Amino acid sequence: MEYLPVFLNLRDRLTLVVGGGAMAARKVELLLKAQARVRVVAPRLHPELALFRDAGRIEHLPLAFEPQHFSDVAFAIAATDSRAVNQAVASTGAARGVFVNVVDDAIGSSAVMPALVDRSPIIVAIGTAGQSPTLARRLRAQLEAMLPERLGELARWAGAVRERVRKGLPDADRRRHFWDQLFAGNLASLVLAGRVRDADQLLEQQLQHACADTLAGRGEVYLIGAGPGDPDLLTLRALQLMQQADVVLYDRLVSAAVLDRVRRDARRIDVGKQSGRHRVTQDRIHSLLLEHARQGLRVARLKGGDPFIFGRGGEEIDLLQRAGIPVIVVPGVTAALGAAASAQVPLTQRGLAPSVTFVTATGEGASELNWAALSAPSQTIVFYMGVAQLPRIVEHLHAHGAPADRPVAIVERATLPDQRVVAGSLGNIVEMAQRAQVAAPALLIVGEVASRAVQSAQQLPFQWMAGVART
Ligand code: SAH
Repeated sequence: MEYLPVFLNLRDRLTLVVGGGAMAARKVELLLKAQARVRVVAPRLHPELALFRDAGRIEHLPLAFEPQHFSDVAFAIAATDSRAVNQAVASTGAARGVFVNVVDDAIGSSAVMPALVDRSPIIVAIGTAGQSPTLARRLRAQLEAMLPERLGELARWAGAVRERVRKGLPDADRRRHFWDQLFAGNLASLVLAGRVRDADQLLEQQLQHACADTLAGRGEVYLIGAGPGDPDLLTLRALQLMQQADVVLYDRLVSAAVLDRVRRDARRIDVGKQSGRHRVTQDRIHSLLLEHARQGLRVARLKGGDPFIFGRGGEEIDLLQRAGIPVIVVPGVTAALGAAASAQVPLTQRGLAPSVTFVTATGEGASELNWAALSAPSQTIVFYMGVAQLPRIVEHLHAHGAPADRPVAIVERATLPDQRVVAGSLGNIVEMAQRAQVAAPALLIVGEVASRAVQSAQQLPFQWMAGVART
């Protein structure tokens, strides 16, 4: 190990920044965040630094660097674009026993600044001993995506309830076990989802029942929108919860690539329904959810698209709420939005389509729809559909006055590598779909904007990017 990673407490300590440019400004910002006092030595100041000076937040010496600027300094940064000046700062620091970071020069530095993921009070610092700042930045981006935004809040919350837990569970072993369970379980998930008040209540309940250690591990369900298929369209929260689930119940519409992102040792249960004859009934899904959650497991219920758009998510949360099992709902990119993006069809557009409607035309539902309204011009309608319904949809629209030349597009397997787009008009789409042998899952976009549909515009850059990412 070439460097010892430490966190310096610079609160109210004097620090020195030599240099007044943009780089210096970034370092000053960081030092101010750490509540240090900052002395900037530079003949001229970047506008951002000038603002700090005017606000009295830094001391500015409009001079060339001289060794006496080090007096009382605890830590220094050399950020000028002159090698000679930076070296003078470094050697003065060395002579006085003060650590100096020289920007962009690991060799001249006695302290290197790490790349940071800041979830204060939790801070992850990444150092490469100056070998590759770019690699450090890449790692940082990965960690940024992995660590929940409210991680710091969780740490603060744990700090705030520490005393209550100590009182509620005087036995140290049980308390440690409780904390372990807490960070793996529903209390932590609630805080991370921003539901601190619910977490407080639940904690109180758990502490009141003296059997806290069994309760802390009580099961919970994450109702997760898995998006239309491309795993890069998962939300960060979906990924985080998929990584901590013990069991995963997934639908037919959840792509293999998405399932790949689930925690490796999680149990996977396929509850995909085959259209027409149901393989696993909704009742059976409900009992699987209850059964696993009651065993104290963390159950991820993965649904295609968004759980609350034609996803029966409402029924599942009703059930779980009635059973007193905590549920966290994570939105997903619904198929209409995925298809619109990858076929480059803006669903609303000024002057062309001021509104968009999502409808499902499968099963019995079709006869309840207001077909007159759906047939009117100047709007976009997206039909989530069984492909077999297409002729009936077209028939209904015609019967209610939609003209044969109204543009339509079918997007099949939207966002997946084998996505297909079939574009035409109400007059010819049934025949075109038959000829192309369109299969589920597919949806139909009706309205002027559909004429802009392009064939898998994103395929090329995506594949190129994937290739680059692997190397
Ligand atoms: N909850 C889902 C929709 C479930 S209903 C969502 O928000 O997307 C199932 C219908 O969604 C399918 O019949 C199809 O019309 C549509 N669908 C889902 N995934 C799709 C995809 N990748 N491409 C095209 N249509 C899709």
